[in-house]
Amino acid sequence: MPTRYDLDRDALAALLAGEPRYRVDQVWDGLHRQLAEPADLTTLPKVLRARLDEELPAALHPVAESATRDGSTVKWLFGLDGGARVETVLMHYRDRTTVCVSTQAGCAMGCGFCATGQAGFQRNLTTGEIVEQVVLASRRARDGGRRLGNVVFMGMGEPLANYDRVWPAVVRIHEDLGLSARHLTLSTVGLVPGIRRLAAEELPVNLAVSLHAANDDLRNELVPINKRYPLTVLMGACADYLRAKGRRLSFEWALIDGTNDRLSDARELAELARSLPLPAHVNLIPLNPTPGYRTRGTHPDGVKLFRQRLEDLGVNATVRRNRGVDIDAACGQLAARVELGRKQDQRR
Ligand code: SAH
Ligand code: SF4
Repeated sequence: MPTRYDLDRDALAALLAGEPRYRVDQVWDGLHRQLAEPADLTTLPKVLRARLDEELPAALHPVAESATRDGSTVKWLFGLDGGARVETVLMHYRDRTTVCVSTQAGCAMGCGFCATGQAGFQRNLTTGEIVEQVVLASRRARDGGRRLGNVVFMGMGEPLANYDRVWPAVVRIHEDLGLSARHLTLSTVGLVPGIRRLAAEELPVNLAVSLHAANDDLRNELVPINKRYPLTVLMGACADYLRAKGRRLSFEWALIDGTNDRLSDARELAELARSLPLPAHVNLIPLNPTPGYRTRGTHPDGVKLFRQRLEDLGVNATVRRNRGVDIDAACGQLAARVELGRKQDQRR
């Protein structure tokens, strides 16, 4: 059965056939503008409300919720139809509020340093499952007197490997939840066909490419999909995306001790970043520890040094704070605990 945000407007109209026409707008606005549950749409007759409550079930079933002590980061673990689990993270910064959403349960890309990759692939999320994560986060932000302004597709899964469900979710978040395309960021491991499809779309979303290595030998090791789409091919797609959208893109770089944090790595990275028509912005993040990967993240002093080297080579770089590490909500850690929990369940 489709869940409440899986339906598009036409499907909702079909469901409401026999009701007055204006009910479609009422329900649609209730779900998207008011962020309401069908049962709470008090402008509807009671009978209809009850029917919608039954026929438009929620996709996400909260299993656990944790928050940092200062409340700036909240993480949900949701159960999905069929038993898969995904996580969503809401982050309040001084001047903005951002949600990090999952697009797949697990991931098939197999990056060894990533907890989601370590867990393997379970299934694609539906459009409704993706949109509902944003709705729940937006509602929570509103209840706390904040406004959700940004969505990053950096949770579990590879967004461009689930393009046909992710893109309609992007459009819905833009058109119906009212977030500007410039505040939506898709992060990809570098799936070239997906980048090319994105370039042909009308909405100019931000693109973040998870690079982590700037030569093919090292990247093949860290990010196995590089064997299929090596750096020259990937950079060609990035350059075309940039030309199509006229916007700078960013490279993600998880700093791994002794692996990709050397002077030679900074030089190669700077060269790639500057090879684009507009130099890429680099986001540095010290690798977060995960159960299945032994090498540690770069020490904070090394992170500072690496950033300075990039700046000296003419490349803008930002160090991302490890938001939510204490609640396992940091990048690449999503699902670590879930899997642990599963294994414990199995033992019981
Ligand atoms: N699959 C997409 C988006 C989800 S991963 C992608 O790979 O881009 C989101 C970001 O977290 C990516 O940049 C990914 O490389 C990074 N990441 C994964 N595991 C990490 C870890 N252990 N420490 C730091 N960053 C990590
Ligand atoms: Fe998948 Fe991204 Fe993790 Fe790689 S880093 S395994 S692409 S979620």
